[in-house]
Amino acid sequence: MLSDIELKISRPNFLTWLKNSRLVENQDGIAMVALPNNFAKEWVEVKYHKLILGSMRDLSGSIKKVEYVVEGNLSKKPLRQKIVKRAPIGFGDGQLAFQEMRVDPKTNLNPRYTLNSFIVGPFNELAHSATAAIIENVGVKYNPLFIYGGVGLGKTHLIQAAGNEIMSLYKDAVRVKYVTSEKFTNDVVWAIRNGRAEEIKKNYRDVDVLIIDDIQFIGGKEKTEEEFFHTFNALHENNKQIIISSDRPPRAIPTLEERLRSRFEGGMIVDISYPEYESRVAIIKTKLQEHGVELDDSSIDIIAKRVQKNIREIEGILNKLLFYQTTYKKALDTNTVDRIIAEATQQSMNKVSPSQIIKAVSAFFEISSNDLLGRARNKEFVEPRQIAMFLFRDMLSMSYPDIANRVGKRDHTTAIYAYKKIDSGIKGSSDLSQKIMMIKEVVNKTV
Ligand code: ADP
Ligand code: MG
Repeated sequence: MLSDIELKISRPNFLTWLKNSRLVENQDGIAMVALPNNFAKEWVEVKYHKLILGSMRDLSGSIKKVEYVVEGNLSKKPLRQKIVKRAPIGFGDGQLAFQEMRVDPKTNLNPRYTLNSFIVGPFNELAHSATAAIIENVGVKYNPLFIYGGVGLGKTHLIQAAGNEIMSLYKDAVRVKYVTSEKFTNDVVWAIRNGRAEEIKKNYRDVDVLIIDDIQFIGGKEKTEEEFFHTFNALHENNKQIIISSDRPPRAIPTLEERLRSRFEGGMIVDISYPEYESRVAIIKTKLQEHGVELDDSSIDIIAKRVQKNIREIEGILNKLLFYQTTYKKALDTNTVDRIIAEATQQSMNKVSPSQIIKAVSAFFEISSNDLLGRARNKEFVEPRQIAMFLFRDMLSMSYPDIANRVGKRDHTTAIYAYKKIDSGIKGSSDLSQKIMMIKEVVNKTV
């Protein structure tokens, strides 16, 4: 069945959405397709239902209906399981690409971030318990709650989890809004340019919980700081909860206005430090378990020793291991694990060559490298070509003229255009970013 569908949809889409699915049951003319997560389920339901139903009917005339279930929910329904295909899903950021699209448009919260999936150790215990306390006492306990710490240590996860938790506890009684400080800045700029200052007030003061991520970026942007100061005061006076994250404490944000700094310091300030070895092991083990991947203790030990300061990086390695396991359908031996970790941590970047990128991109899209690098403007060559140019820049830091020369002897502006197009495309489309991620994995693996 899968191979039948594979022929009908593009390979990247197939790889992204359907490869990890399996047929679990076919009873009374109802076929059940199990998908790794909620998002994949929704996506496949909306985009591929017709195709799947059609293919199933072609195979067996008795099929009347197709239903979709999330893998994790399966155990609740005892089913006679006929396993066709099974593969685990990605960790963290790999999955983030999928989940980003599920962001709740009202709150801007991503449901992937929960307190349940947040692992607590000595390094983040304080931040976690302060967060738990404000969830119980919204707006009155610690206000603002200011959480700071380095990159990839769980700030976004924790503050979004607070929002999600508050939403599920208080439902519609509480309005929550999550925003990055860049988004807030953009909104202020927009309001100024369009003479719509009241819009900011409406959007940001009409909430019960305001969560603002990476506040350090507003330092030095006077208008934004001023607007935020007023927003802050309006909320604070009315006992509305404010939760802030930053990569450093208020006093260390050099261009932050004094009056904002003192407001921030008027609440609770907690930091997330680097996870200790034991916490790192716990994080790795939990994440492996969540995704049903087995790894021996010595490999876990290697990862925990190698990556000390960034949980996102740990997830990156786990994703690579997972990718290897699913692609080659082989158990992970220590040598492979060692190699993958070394690759992931020692910037294999320099070892990548243009020809590896060309090979990976043309293989991925199933076109010849001549077509990829040629000048024909057929639709099926254009995106792969832009992706190749993007990767030349992104992975090899090649100059635009070099890139243009390499790809069909074009003008360097074509290379600039291609880079920008893909770069902004990644931010807007999880489908595209997923393709890029997969191609990069292949490139890195062939090094
Ligand atoms: P930051 O905002 O501090 O840069 P993130 O919140 O984006 O970091 O975390 C990076 C990645 O690590 C995310 O995928 C997140 O889910 C994961 N992560 C961070 N801290 C934890 C934790 N304590 N338990 C489980 N996952 C975590
Ligand atoms: Mg963050």
